[in-house]
Amino acid sequence: MKKVALLSTMLLIILVGVKYFNNSTPAPKEVIKAPPVQTPIVKATPRPKFTPKKRSIKTPVVTTINNTKKAKQALSDPEAFIPMDDDYGILIGHAMVYEKDEVIVAHGDVIVAELKDLERIQEEGKPLVLQSAKYWPDGKVSFQISPELQGTERERAIKLAMDEFIKKTPIRFVPRSPEDKEFVIFTEGSENCLSNLGMIYGGQKIYLSEGCDKGKVIHELMHTIGFLHEQNREDRDKHLTVLWQNIDEEFHLQFKKIKSRNQKIYKTGFDFTSIMLYPPEAFSVTPGDFAMVTSEGSPYPVNRHSLSTKDIQRIKIIYGAKN
Ligand SMILES: [Zn+2]
Repeated sequence: MKKVALLSTMLLIILVGVKYFNNSTPAPKEVIKAPPVQTPIVKATPRPKFTPKKRSIKTPVVTTINNTKKAKQALSDPEAFIPMDDDYGILIGHAMVYEKDEVIVAHGDVIVAELKDLERIQEEGKPLVLQSAKYWPDGKVSFQISPELQGTERERAIKLAMDEFIKKTPIRFVPRSPEDKEFVIFTEGSENCLSNLGMIYGGQKIYLSEGCDKGKVIHELMHTIGFLHEQNREDRDKHLTVLWQNIDEEFHLQFKKIKSRNQKIYKTGFDFTSIMLYPPEAFSVTPGDFAMVTSEGSPYPVNRHSLSTKDIQRIKIIYGAKN
């Protein structure tokens, strides 16, 4: 009997033990935390400081340029410039206000912002950014000629310039319809011929002052469809020598090389006959001096009248061969 009692007691102890362990709370799992991710510290490249003063838009800090004769005087004021970057964050120019046309312009004739944006630009204190050009879908440019240009020499010049593109390139011009969200309005300009670079969402203007002839309208339309000046090409030093000593320091950034997002257009090589190349004397301090010459040291004849063979090739690279 004693043996039976002992076995029964042992069995009871085992059963109680099993029950106890089954009911016991499981030990909490150890939480393994991931080590904190170290954010690399990227230091910005030092750049020229732009410290705009906050003033009313009615008295902008940026000196306004109403005509080219006054421009030189205004340019002696360092505040006449707004620094401008490309979309790589590289300083590529200085922009100036064209008060009458209510636009901010860089590289002589490229609109980079509107005057109404000036206050915001000054408050932000950041350089303007010249975004890479957006191209017109199917090369179709919707256009309108404002009433003040109708019946003028400039309207004739616009039509001749458009014909040049229509005959030689895939670019097409169609009168603006109410459904067109992107379009160009040819508008009276105060003193220059001005255009944006590439297609701008929501519409854009091409400003034409008196004297904007067929060749100048072709040049502006080249900007409108996305092309910059030939002297700003990255590879220009192989072909062109910039005579910095003959150029006002204030204008040096006009000759800055600009990295293109679209390298395909460089396949055509540098083009001395491009309508996008400035004349050798452009921006020279002394009349008669040259700002640019060929790498052999001589001035070059300029084409200010029509698209060159390479201009046409480049348009076809971007917009497709002519239909
Ligand atoms: Zn231009």
